[in-house]
Amino acid sequence: MPGKAVVIALGGNAILQHRETGTAEEQSANVRRASRQIAAIAAGGYGVVITHGNGPQVGDILLKNEIAKDILPPMPLDVCGAESQGMIGYLLQQSMQEVLLAAGVDCPVATVLTQTLVEGNDPAFGRPEKPIGPYYTAMQARKLQEEQGWRMVQIPGQGYRRVVPSPRPIGLVEEEAIVRLFSAGAVVIAAGGGGVPVVAGPGGILRGVEAVVDKDYTAALLAQLVGADDLLILTDVERVALNYGRPGQQEIHEMTVAEAREHLAAGQFPPGSMGPKIEAAIGFLESGGERATIASLEQASSALAGQAGTRICR
Ligand code: ADP
Ligand code: MG
Repeated sequence: MPGKAVVIALGGNAILQHRETGTAEEQSANVRRASRQIAAIAAGGYGVVITHGNGPQVGDILLKNEIAKDILPPMPLDVCGAESQGMIGYLLQQSMQEVLLAAGVDCPVATVLTQTLVEGNDPAFGRPEKPIGPYYTAMQARKLQEEQGWRMVQIPGQGYRRVVPSPRPIGLVEEEAIVRLFSAGAVVIAAGGGGVPVVAGPGGILRGVEAVVDKDYTAALLAQLVGADDLLILTDVERVALNYGRPGQQEIHEMTVAEAREHLAAGQFPPGSMGPKIEAAIGFLESGGERATIASLEQASSALAGQAGTRICR
């Protein structure tokens, strides 16, 4: 078992940026950038578990389904989620193996296709709020709402997106596999896209559901599972801010759990973006974690060392 352990959560934008078209080349190039950062952390003596978002990728898969629906049966959202875990896991796994070798770190890399347990009666099922897939015009959105029964919301200045429920993760079906691989020294890639949400029916039979789990909440579960010292959430902003995007915006370098809770209650961290990261950080610290850090991908290793990003501590 390595000395220190970190769970690194990569934002969806780390792998496919909004303005990109999503070619395999673009995504591998972005994954390579992320991998170099992560390899530097592993080379510094950390045992690493990687998790990642899948918003842009699962959106593209859904769109392909939609376009091809007269020729091939569309797959439900849970199957699309699994597909995205395989795709991103493959890209990450290959590039991590390469950069670890180059960094002189000798360890296996494995992706665990993960199912995340959620509660069938989670209140989230009554109020879909997680945007998935591409942006649409008002006219397209109305049509999709009528023809597909999708729930659409307007994102100010950017268009319309489909929204689905985002229930809380309560456990990971593959937790034993993840822990054993990690304990044996592997870099483990797990619970991509928050994991495929499943509910346990009578007799423990699992069934996938039309929902997405925010990867930040699952990252906190993973961190608890492997007894991580650090939870490092990498996204597309350098620091968490107060009054984000408004006059008087102020970057936060460090805050306590109590301060984080206060700002959260004051509405500084919206649900669906910064909110889950802050809640994940709080949950992780309260379950015994040492440090939670939110930073940009480019500053990953300096953030882990406390020299960049926003540090949240007990
Ligand atoms: P990820 O794919 O990394 O999870 P999200 O879009 O879910 O990305 O969350 C990151 C985004 O949160 C940032 O791009 C930023 O626009 C937004 N955000 C909302 N509130 C804040 C805040 N208070 N401070 C910093 N960023 C914020
Ligand atoms: Mg997010």
